[in-house]
Amino acid sequence: MKLAVLAGDGIGKEVTREAVNVLERVSNLFDIDVRIEQFEIGAEAIKANGSPLPERTLEGCLESDAVLLGAVGSPEFDDLLPEDRPEIGLLNLRKHLGGFANLRPAKSHPSLVNSSPLRPEIFEGTDLLIVRELLGGIYFGEPRGFSEDRRRAFNTLTYSAFEIERVARIAFDIARDRKKKLTSVDKANVLESSRLWRETVNNVAAEYPDVELEHLFVDACAMHLVTDPNRFDVILTGNLFGDILSDEAAVLTGSLGMLASATIGGKVDLYEPVHGSAPDIAGKNQANPLGAIECAAMCLAQTANKRQASEAIQTGVQKVLSEGYRTVDLITNADDVKVTTEEMGELVGRYATESANFTHAHRAV
Ligand code: NAD
Repeated sequence: MKLAVLAGDGIGKEVTREAVNVLERVSNLFDIDVRIEQFEIGAEAIKANGSPLPERTLEGCLESDAVLLGAVGSPEFDDLLPEDRPEIGLLNLRKHLGGFANLRPAKSHPSLVNSSPLRPEIFEGTDLLIVRELLGGIYFGEPRGFSEDRRRAFNTLTYSAFEIERVARIAFDIARDRKKKLTSVDKANVLESSRLWRETVNNVAAEYPDVELEHLFVDACAMHLVTDPNRFDVILTGNLFGDILSDEAAVLTGSLGMLASATIGGKVDLYEPVHGSAPDIAGKNQANPLGAIECAAMCLAQTANKRQASEAIQTGVQKVLSEGYRTVDLITNADDVKVTTEEMGELVGRYATESANFTHAHRAV
């Protein structure tokens, strides 16, 4: 696997370093050939090259199988016009990579269940993944705009069967590898585009008889996410509903630093933690690297198709948390053991490789 690493700005550099270390340790153990090249993006790229997405970076990404991105954005450039800011580098990169399926996992870690805004007995055991269609729907539909007198504004919510089918297949494939349950979310009681969504998902479902499919209206889904998140495995939805539901699901986990995301289906897969460059804590060795490390795990599972190696990393994360190690953002109890970004990365790497060795040994026996 050729992996382009774009650490970016602020804590992006710190968390990505740890993710790459863990990825390399686990890949070595499982004999996975991962070739890593680093490129600049965002504010650091503006300073070095005058562009937030230099040509060399884009070419390097397009020649790779996957991109691991840290974060972009720096207060130094807050006064620039939106089209010149570091963040535009990331928006342009996403466009060039062409991914149409955005994956956002949200799960409860038994030892962090008290960090959730939900009562522990409701959130405990939650392990869901939202598949959001990313290139269609109302964010891109034409016509759009204002009337001449600016007393009216309009957008168009349009989906083709093709757009729905391709993202539905990704969601069914993922559900097949998990608990085999897919919830498709729409607003078919009101919207024609949602009726096509539902019909098309039903058609694709015929190819996946082993996956249980249910349909939910988006308002019901938003409600179930906070009253009974355990009922979900994979949630498939369009761009607008997915934008909202994935943030709702994210907040349930209680910490921004833990959350990973992937955008797949295009030329090159993109993995990025959900958080930004966190200038308030940048350079202090206190950022939580677990979201970035989870990205490395997702990359091994999705792009490299190396499930065991991916699971080893996830086991490492669980173990670190159950042993009580916490970066500052996760500390809730007096007996939590405070660790730095680097220490957290080192511990996950160690536990991940230990768990993999243990599994190997058991298989050999
Ligand atoms: P942010 O996610 O950077 O930070 C929000 C808060 O969460 C801060 O208090 C921060 O310290 C904390 N935080 C975030 N990640 C953390 C981690 N891993 N460990 C511990 N604490 C963490 O959002 P923001 O402050 O709104 O934005 C800062 C900059 O990041 C801006 O320039 C923004 O444009 C950019 N941004 C980039 C991305 C991206 O690259 N995908 C996403 C969001 C924001």
